[in-house]
Amino acid sequence: MSRNLENTYAALPEIFFRKQMPEAAPAPHAVVFNEELAKGLGLGDVKDAAEIFSGAKLPPGSVPISQAYAGHQFGYFTMLGDGRAVLLGEQIAPSGERFDIQLKGSGRTPFSRRGDGYAALLPMLREYIVGEAMFALGIPTTRGLAVVLTGREVVREEVLQGAVLTRVASSHIRVGTFDYISEFGTPDDLRILADYTIRRHFARLENAADKYVLFLREVARRQADLIAKWQLVGFIHGVMNTDNMAISGETIDYGPCAFMDAYDPDTVFSSIDTHGRYAYKNQPKIGAWNLARFAEALLPLLDADEEKAAVLARREIEFYWDCFNQNWLSGMRAKLGITGENPDDADRINDFLEEMAAKKSDFTNTFRAQAKGDAKKYNPAVIPRNHRVEEALSAADEGDFSVMHELLAALRNPFEDSEKYSQPPPTCCGYQTFCGT
Ligand code: AMP
Ligand code: MG
Repeated sequence: MSRNLENTYAALPEIFFRKQMPEAAPAPHAVVFNEELAKGLGLGDVKDAAEIFSGAKLPPGSVPISQAYAGHQFGYFTMLGDGRAVLLGEQIAPSGERFDIQLKGSGRTPFSRRGDGYAALLPMLREYIVGEAMFALGIPTTRGLAVVLTGREVVREEVLQGAVLTRVASSHIRVGTFDYISEFGTPDDLRILADYTIRRHFARLENAADKYVLFLREVARRQADLIAKWQLVGFIHGVMNTDNMAISGETIDYGPCAFMDAYDPDTVFSSIDTHGRYAYKNQPKIGAWNLARFAEALLPLLDADEEKAAVLARREIEFYWDCFNQNWLSGMRAKLGITGENPDDADRINDFLEEMAAKKSDFTNTFRAQAKGDAKKYNPAVIPRNHRVEEALSAADEGDFSVMHELLAALRNPFEDSEKYSQPPPTCCGYQTFCGT
């Protein structure tokens, strides 16, 4: 593996992370390796992929750490941190971009709480599959580089095969990282985190006089853009806690997420989301709620005067809504082939959606059927449908990865019609997902 690994996060003050070696997997065996991503990262010839991407062997230049963060989980503040993830370092790609390379499921860390630090094969494959689908759809996302069986048994409700997912992200800085520093750090720590994040994701703001307000604005813009994209393809994240919202605006932490088949705005897949907090229709609102937590954490940097800071923060949350509404409306116009802009477009679109809901129409296929001319580009034919993902995972559980590879190949070209993968499930409704712990 070529030596382009840096460790800038590990150079921050100790409050931000703990040094943490991954546990060596007893019998590592790679079951998926993302050649295309590895090439884009400039990893070169990776000889010991199974060892490196399971934690048995460190890549040259790595300073492994687990990152500290907190989160508002279902609305309530909780101290968290990478309970089962170890950041190996930041790979500088040939493009000059910096990417975190992180192992997920490589053993306990100081933030594990009561968890064992491990991950099971199927949820890691699920994260890999859905992440690749999102990437092909043009939706900002973290990606899987590899999934490696560890040869270790993981005890959940039953005994499962343990695995490590190697995750690539433009960073793992979350709204929850700011929650944490705001609660436990000093004003200096907050400034250090904000400056680090600006340098990493919004470098052009570095010398602006009001850089922290602009920073908030850019995060608002990216969140609005991301969540509009989710709504436009029927993606339900499932657990939009602030620790699962990346500042970069990438989709992160694919746990109980799923795509809708039949359109119902109340759709919730996660078994633990009993009140539907993270239902499809609530995602834009929750995005604003999470952004408000981020703005709260940033308040001391926005203005020395608390009232003025609050006014600035509120303005940026309004900006989020403006961006979201604009992105959603233009995205829906494109999907439906509506040209020009008419004041009644939003009403027309909402009527169309209401009719879809009443008929329980398949979200993806109904839009696809509308696609004329250019509107093809906006209406995918292939999404990772739950029944197809489950089918791939069941086969993988038995050691047959061919079903997953066939699915991945179809997901790579989501705008190409596919008789097999465009079919909705034989029976609708009632699909449930479980947190991948
Ligand atoms: P998630 O629901 O996957 O976003 O996880 C919430 C928090 O719990 C994160 O901070 C994880 O690092 C941690 N966590 C999840 N599963 C485990 C596990 N098996 N062992 C230790 N920590 C875990
Ligand atoms: Mg998480």
